[in-house]
Amino acid sequence: MIIDSATITPGSVIETDICIVGSGPAGLSLARELKNSSYKVAILESGGFKPRRALKKLNEGTTVGDPYPNPRWGRHRQFGGTANRWLVEIGGHKLGARYAPLDAIDFEKRDWIPFSGWPLSRADLDPFYERAQRHCGLGRYAYDAADWETETQKALPFKDGRLITTVFQFGAKDVWTNHFEDVTQQAANVTAIVNGTALEIETDDGGTNITGIRAANPDHQQFFVRAKRVILAMGCIENARLLLLSRRKHANGIGNQHDVVGRYFMDHPQSYLNVFTPGDRSIFNRTDLYDLRPMDGGYAVMGELVFSEETLRKEQLQSMCFVMFPRRDGFMSKAFQSFFDISLAVVHRQRPSGLVHHAVQMIKGTPDLMKIAGYALQGKAVYPYISRGGWSKMQDKAQLFNQFELFSLLEQAPDPSNRITLGDHLDSYGQPQVKIYWRFTERDQESVRRAREVMTQEFANSGLGSVEFSEASYTSPSSVHPIGSTRMNNDPHYGVVDENCKVHGISNLYIAGSSVFPTGGYVNPTLTVVALACRLADHLKQQAHSIPTVADAAPAITLS
Ligand SMILES: Cc1cc2nc3c(=O)[nH]c(=O)nc-3n(C[C@H](O)[C@H](O)[C@H](O)COP(=O)(O)OP(=O)(O)OC[C@H]3O[C@@H](n4cnc5c(N)ncnc54)[C@H](O)[C@@H]3O)c2cc1C
Repeated sequence: MIIDSATITPGSVIETDICIVGSGPAGLSLARELKNSSYKVAILESGGFKPRRALKKLNEGTTVGDPYPNPRWGRHRQFGGTANRWLVEIGGHKLGARYAPLDAIDFEKRDWIPFSGWPLSRADLDPFYERAQRHCGLGRYAYDAADWETETQKALPFKDGRLITTVFQFGAKDVWTNHFEDVTQQAANVTAIVNGTALEIETDDGGTNITGIRAANPDHQQFFVRAKRVILAMGCIENARLLLLSRRKHANGIGNQHDVVGRYFMDHPQSYLNVFTPGDRSIFNRTDLYDLRPMDGGYAVMGELVFSEETLRKEQLQSMCFVMFPRRDGFMSKAFQSFFDISLAVVHRQRPSGLVHHAVQMIKGTPDLMKIAGYALQGKAVYPYISRGGWSKMQDKAQLFNQFELFSLLEQAPDPSNRITLGDHLDSYGQPQVKIYWRFTERDQESVRRAREVMTQEFANSGLGSVEFSEASYTSPSSVHPIGSTRMNNDPHYGVVDENCKVHGISNLYIAGSSVFPTGGYVNPTLTVVALACRLADHLKQQAHSIPTVADAAPAITLS
């Protein structure tokens, strides 16, 4: 059933067993796991079924520290959540996303990374990753190169084994953004309340039991969702913000008794403009494994280079991956990179930054641009990038290409001073927006420096060719993968939620999403978000109806 909040009489109380706030991959997979259970489930979603400009403003905030994108960028309020923004071309005219599980070492306490370590292991999460594959519309749970190699297309051979190949899989976004009738229409126990924005989490007088969520429709008329259990699934930034905004009984916000909410905020900075020049150009005919391309059953995969676990330990590195894109002569020039940055901004309807710098680069590099224009006129200007593959199908690759660009996603070390707080500006509901302090620390930079040395040696020792890295340790601060603001740790001094994703000190409040990750590895977060949602659903089902609804005299609309 769907209820538009505009039709709810102001002041009404809606009563349910479980209220999931947010309908992105975290909220929707939870609802899918709980459909047809004995619980009455309400999904409270700020957006509706179409994008609305006014909602974008609710994601506004400010940033301080190193340059970092405004949080309105890369978040989306609509049923299906931020998946509505996914743009990887996965074949068959479909858009989607890249998925992979975190590696086993990412869950460990790594001595060289302060505050690392999950209370779970990869083995604990494996069964849930397998379930997450189905939610995400993916194929078999297989991420090793060997699972996808063919007779002629093998992983690159590295002599000392310091670099290995694993794969990303790709899935269509419509499992989140279009095909949700199973939850919104067919599940008798699930109700989606759309265009309803959560404003505050309310507790009983003791402050240890949540009574429900105070919410408002777009005309600012309020209603209350009374629930036995509440799960925040609003995305990393909003999960922390709502806890901080809920100050009626907890002066510093709910779950924030040790000042942990909002801290340890991380992203996956990106490093591109790194070049691998092969010694032998025939390599372009043997590296299809690294292209984004459809495999068996129509599922798309793409190989990536990562450091072996042994190397990460020995060299004390943070995790990172390298994706490879073949380039023609002139495409790695500064002039073309400036042209590309501006074109990308225009395509995404963003204002390009550093326009003067880009203009100077393009004027200086006119010969390179002319060369590329020549390729374009011959119909041979090939530029695969992070959201587009397909180069492996081309003829004459060894003649066409001369270099690979290496594109990297970097793990940040958790740092308590990187944090989300409430800022001075207010949103349209009169609530403080977020202020994000973000830095790529000296520790992060040192890890990149060392990784580059190891990688350069490994390519050279293996006789594959030479590698050259861009000057800066990262090119872009964000992959719009916000992580860590309500981290998981069984000690409330270091975590907001415990290993069951329950908020410390509160009996019936849970969190789903990348905000609970204690560390973020290098992989895109959604497969882990969905795996944790499956695990949380199991935990809730095991509890049955053990927590009674907090008594309240107000009349309630009871959901069927
Ligand atoms: C351009 C882009 C590309 C990406 N590509 C990938 C990729 O390839 N692979 C990958 O793994 N990840 C990718 N991501 C990240 C991915 O989108 C997130 O990991 C994922 O959406 C997180 O799911 P979520 O449900 O936790 O949060 P979201 O998807 O952000 O959903 C949160 C939901 O909560 C709702 N909400 C927020 N505040 C409130 C409130 N106050 N009251 C009620 N509802 C509220 C929002 O409207 C939204 O529907 C990408 C992100 C972007 C922007």
